[in-house]
Amino acid sequence: MTTPITIVGAGLGGLALSRVLHVHGIPSTVYEAEPSSSTRGQGGLLDIRDYNGQPALEAAGLTERFRELVLEGRQAMRLLDRDGNVLLDVPDDGTGGNPEVQRGELRQMLLDSLPDGTVRWDHKVSGVRALGDGRHEVAFANGTTATTGLLVGADGAWSRVRPLLTGAKPVYSGFSFVETHLFDGDDRHPTSAKTVGGGAMMVLEPGKGILAHRERGGNLHTWVMLARPLDWFAAIDFTDPAAATARVVREFDGWAPELTALITDGETPPVLRHIHDLPGEHHRWDRTPGVTLLGDAAHLTAPNGEGANLALYDGAELGKAIAAHPDDVEAALTAYEQAMFVRTAASNAEAPDLHVMLGDGTPHDLINAFTGS
Ligand SMILES: Cc1cc2nc3c(=O)[nH]c(=O)nc-3n(C[C@H](O)[C@H](O)[C@H](O)COP(=O)(O)OP(=O)(O)OC[C@H]3O[C@@H](n4cnc5c(N)ncnc54)[C@H](O)[C@@H]3O)c2cc1C
Repeated sequence: MTTPITIVGAGLGGLALSRVLHVHGIPSTVYEAEPSSSTRGQGGLLDIRDYNGQPALEAAGLTERFRELVLEGRQAMRLLDRDGNVLLDVPDDGTGGNPEVQRGELRQMLLDSLPDGTVRWDHKVSGVRALGDGRHEVAFANGTTATTGLLVGADGAWSRVRPLLTGAKPVYSGFSFVETHLFDGDDRHPTSAKTVGGGAMMVLEPGKGILAHRERGGNLHTWVMLARPLDWFAAIDFTDPAAATARVVREFDGWAPELTALITDGETPPVLRHIHDLPGEHHRWDRTPGVTLLGDAAHLTAPNGEGANLALYDGAELGKAIAAHPDDVEAALTAYEQAMFVRTAASNAEAPDLHVMLGDGTPHDLINAFTGS
């Protein structure tokens, strides 16, 4: 089967690309490994930034719908110490410029904006190969194949498309997160809800920290952040939620009970997420006819608040570049990639990363960065 512009991955980046192409009257097909849009929890609050995520949604013609998803007050941010004392309290006064939305709701908004049948669910790409003249064959785990004249890898950290362009592989960043959820915080976990406050709350020490968000419905979503080697986690049995919780909370001995409750009162089994990134020097490749990458597939970086925003922006910029060069795919890809390489490097240089958040100078380096002192 020959398909139009072929996008692998229905994450935020791939969907933004498909939507911007659609706005310009250009058809595309998005192949997604998951069986349906509701297969995987898409939890997490994302702040959508006024210099990349929001312009991308504007290019997609979705600003109004995006505004309807914004959770008011969630740009509030507080930094506490291990005893629960407030070190920094930044209220949401409505001028923050980076409104927060639930990731799953944003993704659904993009899905709803595409013509029926654009996304082919349950199409996990198992391999790709060049056919020459910029054409590629994509093979799926379900045994089918598709050929295309323009292939876009929007398939995240472990991209199957990336090997066509670069040998770069994700490496463990040295950090892992353990994710917990406390539901209906104000009624069922009032002390923790008060501690988290109206938006985000962080407690940071060298090598460890707790980051929690107040999500829709007052749900408290926590990331326990630990700088530990992989074998440290391998010794914990995460199939035994009680034992895993007990082991993780031991790292926070002596911390205020309202903070450790975010771990011990979790209502879902704790989920371990190892954080990987692509070393910076691998965020570039030579132009290769008929194929490119966007989002995490192109520049996976340990969470720094930019990844989803950059994925949206990459998708929108690539869509605009293709629309601007209707008869010259290579000119479109060259223009997109040259700009993308530069903005990725700039963004990663500026964003605070986990090495700073959990580094020797934390939390005071971060407080100084916020207060400009
Ligand atoms: C713990 C954590 C917290 C984060 N917090 C933030 C934040 O607050 N703000 C922010 O901006 N960013 C954040 N990020 C980063 C952000 O999640 C990513 O940068 C963003 O999701 C990248 O979008 P994407 O579309 O490139 O890839 P993804 O969102 O990973 O989407 C890729 C899609 O491709 C599909 N896929 C994968 N393999 C295949 C295959 N072989 N065949 C077909 N389909 C496939 C996947 O199922 C998925 O749907 C966070 C990341 C983590 C891990």
